[in-house]
Amino acid sequence: MFFHRKELIVPIEVKKPDPVFAQFMLQQFGGATGELTAGLQYWVQSFHCPKPGIREMLQDIALEEFNHLEVVGRLIEEHTRNVEKTLTEADEKTIFALRGKGPHLVDERGVSWTAAYINEGGDVVRDLRANIAAEAAARETYEILLNRAPDTGTKMALHYLLTREIAHTKMFMKALDSLGKLTDPVFGNVKPDESVNVYYHLSANGAPLRGPWNQEPEFTYIADPAKVLEQQHELTGVGKH
Ligand code: MN
Ligand code: MN
Repeated sequence: MFFHRKELIVPIEVKKPDPVFAQFMLQQFGGATGELTAGLQYWVQSFHCPKPGIREMLQDIALEEFNHLEVVGRLIEEHTRNVEKTLTEADEKTIFALRGKGPHLVDERGVSWTAAYINEGGDVVRDLRANIAAEAAARETYEILLNRAPDTGTKMALHYLLTREIAHTKMFMKALDSLGKLTDPVFGNVKPDESVNVYYHLSANGAPLRGPWNQEPEFTYIADPAKVLEQQHELTGVGKH
């Protein structure tokens, strides 16, 4: 069941309407990293989440994202209305000149929103990891928008939206941690084979660069994978005619 309240989750004040900026903001309305993508992704995931607590969190955050969609939509509306007297040449070339004022379900290039942006599957660990990535993408877009925002009111709203994406990241990470999967990449019923800790150095030029992602004792570093694979093939006869 849904209700709708008329006030926004965060008040907005636009002093300097800017249709060019509004077009950039379409990314967060009808774009891949936008609020519609996030809201629908978490909402759909909640239906196949077997853990009641995590399911409720997914639904609560999904609804918060719809609140954000409403804020972004209103910001776009404010940045495209009452601009007739101040329209610049650049403003007259925006998507709004042809499609009308206010938000549309397209990104800043005019590409239609698609469900292909949504990353969801049948496993809660997989879904939570997808959500951490989605929040990172949204946070990055908001920072770019924040730096380009033409007035303080818009900046304040974007700062709030950026902050909430960090809050969601923390929640998704805690949920993964509660499943013991924040630092354990293995999930599902199939055990990995012995190659799970093997690092193949496949970069041909320059000295190998080492870090915790390929270091002993956890990882076996194969400095010359071609040689090792040749030896393996000789042993097994693979590739011989
Ligand atoms: Mn959001
Ligand atoms: Mn979020």
